[in-house]
Amino acid sequence: MTDIQKVDLFVIGGGINGAGIARDAAGRGLSVVLCEKDDLAEGTSSRSGKLVHGGLRYLEYYEFRLVREALIEREVLMRNAPHIIWPMRFVLPHSPQDRPAWLVRLGLFLYDHLGGRKKLPGTRTLNLHRDPEGAAVKDSYKRGFEYSDCWVDDARLVILNAIDASERGATVLTRSPCVSARREGQVWRVTTQNSVTGETKEFEAKLLVNAAGPWVTDVVNRVAGSNSPRNVRLVKGSHIIVPKFWKGENAYLVQNHDKRVIFINPYERDKALIGTTDIAYEGKAEEVTADDSEVQYLIDAVNRYFKEQLTRNDVLTTFSGVRPLFDDGKGNPSAVTRDYVFDIEEKGGAPMLNIFGGKITTFRELAERGLQKVSKFFPEIGGDWTENAPLPGGDMENADYEEFRNRMKHDYPWMPRDLRRHYGRLYGTRIDRIVDGASSLDGLGRHFGGTLYEAEVAYLVKHEWAQTADDILWRRTKHRLHLTEDEQAAFTKWFELQREAA
Ligand SMILES: Cc1cc2nc3c(=O)[nH]c(=O)nc-3n(C[C@H](O)[C@H](O)[C@H](O)COP(=O)(O)OP(=O)(O)OC[C@H]3O[C@@H](n4cnc5c(N)ncnc54)[C@H](O)[C@@H]3O)c2cc1C
Repeated sequence: MTDIQKVDLFVIGGGINGAGIARDAAGRGLSVVLCEKDDLAEGTSSRSGKLVHGGLRYLEYYEFRLVREALIEREVLMRNAPHIIWPMRFVLPHSPQDRPAWLVRLGLFLYDHLGGRKKLPGTRTLNLHRDPEGAAVKDSYKRGFEYSDCWVDDARLVILNAIDASERGATVLTRSPCVSARREGQVWRVTTQNSVTGETKEFEAKLLVNAAGPWVTDVVNRVAGSNSPRNVRLVKGSHIIVPKFWKGENAYLVQNHDKRVIFINPYERDKALIGTTDIAYEGKAEEVTADDSEVQYLIDAVNRYFKEQLTRNDVLTTFSGVRPLFDDGKGNPSAVTRDYVFDIEEKGGAPMLNIFGGKITTFRELAERGLQKVSKFFPEIGGDWTENAPLPGGDMENADYEEFRNRMKHDYPWMPRDLRRHYGRLYGTRIDRIVDGASSLDGLGRHFGGTLYEAEVAYLVKHEWAQTADDILWRRTKHRLHLTEDEQAAFTKWFELQREAA
């Protein structure tokens, strides 16, 4: 007979919401298991636009509360993870045909003042013919605006939450779909099955949390054999990555003829991330890919504004994700709310918390509110704690990344700048654990190309649940964008041999 592990909370889904809830719950003293059917962040949470933002465009849908909460959250998250979340300035070339200047100004005024902005600089008006931010923009655009939001490494945000959850006692199981969850009186009997080894595990949980994102209704209906009055709308969004084609650190936000806005962000030093689209999606979330028409749509949006004219040949790669939006009955996919909704169902037995919708930006607050909602089931539960708690690697003096950068320079004078930057940005103060006493590049072991050394691989396998080459090259890091195809193939072969030998 298999052992049954008894826990307070069983979380289904290792995206940002599941990882955030597991972390918050573990920090409140609850016993927690999180299971993820694939790799952590392999669902929507590694496929976002990678912004911690209020969502300027949501103001047009009168989502003032959502925008305000998200704006406030920007500075909270920046403080707690300054290595993976940093401020970015967005330049908006004004095109009078799409939205009048007064409307853009009003939106930016609200954006500046709705949500407790302390550190981030406010909006300013630009003369694109004169200011350097306008150099890459076509001469037909003269006026522009510039405002602040934040950048985030979305997949690493998930991993950091999972690490913190685990360090606070949670068990994190990857490649372990929850295959069944059944109520047995006041508890849930939950079964997972490892998709690599086939091993099954049994759990008894007081509360089931369904944070399965686009699969939320699959978990309600198929896995838990239940039903919910709520539903999700699946809305696909795609991005393209091209070589960066402007000077400077700022991003751009352009308005398209269909009134949608497209982000053109600096990415991975020498690249640009361009997105997104909004298309109702009915296929399997696992199989989502960018259509040719989406790629062309994004290229066209850039070409309308910039002197540099992109073609398909510039596209280095694409990725797509499925937004699990709470179905508020709106027809237009762009208009569907980005807010989240909880549904607690008890049916006279053990409770289940289903999460519909949400954004990367609001994950911490979603977790906090979710735990407040279910605290009635756990009389001993601790209070809110995450607002001022750094995520792993984010414990920097005054949340000051610049200061930390100088410290790295001092501590690792032998390390090339791009490697120091890579470790600093991904691992923050945990850089010491990767370097592990090495005092030269040789000490980091085998070199696979770019900034990928064996020491990082060992760290990711040991501390971050990395099991495949792609876990390392694409979700824990973005080495895939910097290694040649031959280097990637050689790394994959080496990694698989190591795994077989282990
Ligand atoms: C194109 C696009 C751009 C976006 N841009 C932004 C942005 O810039 N800023 C922002 O704040 N938000 C953005 N979002 C929204 C944000 O990405 C999502 O709201 C968020 O990632 C959803 O997280 P989640 O944890 O709910 O879902 P997911 O990340 O999909 O996680 C759910 C997990 O559950 C797992 N799962 C499913 N079924 C099971 C099972 N039976 N057993 C075990 N595990 C299971 C899945 O494998 C998956 O990993 C964007 C979304 C998209 C698609």
